[in-house]
Amino acid sequence: MVERSYDVVIVGSGAGGGTVAKELAPLARQGLRVAVLEWGAKLRESEYTGREVEMADKLYFDSGGVLTRDRTMTLAFGRAYGGSTVVYTGTSLPLPEPVLARWNVPGLEFADLRRRSEKALGENNVHLLEDDKLNDNNRLFNAACRRLGYRVQQFPINVKGCRGAGVCNLGCPNAAKQGTNRVQLPAAEAAGVEVVTNCKVEAIGERECTATVANPPYGEPSRWEPGRYRIRARAIVVAGGAVNSPALLLRSRLPVRLPALGRYLTAHPALILVGEHEKPITNYFGHPKSYYCDHFVDEGFLLETCMYFPFTTAKNLIGFGAEHAELMRRMDRMQMILVLAVDPALAENRVVLARDGEPVVDYRFTDGVLDALVASQRAAARIFFAAGCRRVHAPAGATFFIGASQAGRIDELITRAPFRLGKVSISSAHLMGGCRMGADAAESVTDAWGQVHGVPWLFVADGSLFPRCSEINPYVTIMALADRVAERVRDRIAELPA
Ligand SMILES: Cc1cc2nc3c(=O)[nH]c(=O)nc-3n(C[C@H](O)[C@H](O)[C@H](O)COP(=O)(O)OP(=O)(O)OC[C@H]3O[C@@H](n4cnc5c(N)ncnc54)[C@H](O)[C@@H]3O)c2cc1C
Repeated sequence: MVERSYDVVIVGSGAGGGTVAKELAPLARQGLRVAVLEWGAKLRESEYTGREVEMADKLYFDSGGVLTRDRTMTLAFGRAYGGSTVVYTGTSLPLPEPVLARWNVPGLEFADLRRRSEKALGENNVHLLEDDKLNDNNRLFNAACRRLGYRVQQFPINVKGCRGAGVCNLGCPNAAKQGTNRVQLPAAEAAGVEVVTNCKVEAIGERECTATVANPPYGEPSRWEPGRYRIRARAIVVAGGAVNSPALLLRSRLPVRLPALGRYLTAHPALILVGEHEKPITNYFGHPKSYYCDHFVDEGFLLETCMYFPFTTAKNLIGFGAEHAELMRRMDRMQMILVLAVDPALAENRVVLARDGEPVVDYRFTDGVLDALVASQRAAARIFFAAGCRRVHAPAGATFFIGASQAGRIDELITRAPFRLGKVSISSAHLMGGCRMGADAAESVTDAWGQVHGVPWLFVADGSLFPRCSEINPYVTIMALADRVAERVRDRIAELPA
């Protein structure tokens, strides 16, 4: 086993890890050794082809289809230089104050989080897209929500020179989206932080971790030779995401008992809904996500514009056969809405380890979440019809299509009865919790600065820190929390033994 030694090791390079790497650049400039160990590859620019199946294989764990244990939900999260920020859509919202109040983490103040969120918004070039860049799919949603009196807002997004390829979730082929692969990691590397790709951290021990480097047949080769490594570090920051950070800590021999580790996972369970227009609309080209409707957040759901790719869309429609094929053939007429449920943080929703040490996610849908997912389909159907759709497909629909002439009977036609788990395609791209912050070591894993309770050299800095879900798109909040963790590491590193 090859031995290496650093002052700080960061595991993962996504929203959390990438931010910590950049914020530790001052340490690297002072001559301290900082490394990011990232499981995924750094793709060459020419490898961003925008082709759905190919990019999903290269940029996501299990091609974006990690299943929960009972197979009722698929989880999408990235594995790459830049983590999920390579495939995120780039909508950039800070955490609302009432949500932070519900989080109730002693020592985590709104003003502090807001200041750090604004820093992330500035770094990532977050702005509202100009009117002429909005496509029909987005305009129709906005106009329909206004017509219905639903509160609707434009998403600030983080692009630079967006050419509207529409494939944000397959990695931007025009390098326009500002993920950590474009902003934070290059800045960190310029200051001397080493980013080691194709490097999976297996386990953490007392001030050290073990890792394996193996190059896949794509992307740039790792800066380390393939093989097994033992890496000593004065501080270790775990930022592998809400599934892999708890899994890594569960695999590790830690000097403390952490009863909350892996628990309280939340996911914003989501459905992709479609309506069909008489004539083609612009949907595939242009930034896919320009508006959101938070009118129903107190009823437990959010609606956002979206436009997915043929395979993902086909998988998300329920049923099969002639009607399914007919709808897919009319993709150029499709209007699309993503609905996200606000799910409660339950101890039983958690990451555990399979025999091979890899994570398995146990997730139980509450009645409240299922009711919200059904109610969200009714709201989406109203929006589609108000936008002029001739028919709508809803997973909780009594029939495959609901026609415009039936628009007055939406409540009767979209119900819980046909909405059966395992028969409908529920997915999540917002994984949160598993190493939640808090004051009480019985119910949380870290303190309000991301330090693991009772382990002064071990930190967590990613979406797993969330004590409950964020009720909005999470990445800005992850960056803000990671910024806090990095500050704590900078302040404490001198006290930690070499
Ligand atoms: C398709 C999609 C669209 C999204 N759109 C938006 C959006 O528009 N707005 C928004 O706010 N959020 C969005 N999100 C969510 C957002 O991207 C994530 O919440 C955020 O990136 C999570 O940050 P993280 O640091 O927790 O983990 P990640 O960004 O997932 O990074 C974790 C990294 O750690 C690496 N890793 C894991 N385990 C190990 C290990 N053992 N050793 C080494 N490396 C490891 C992984 O390979 C990965 O690269 C989207 C997500 C997806 C999947």
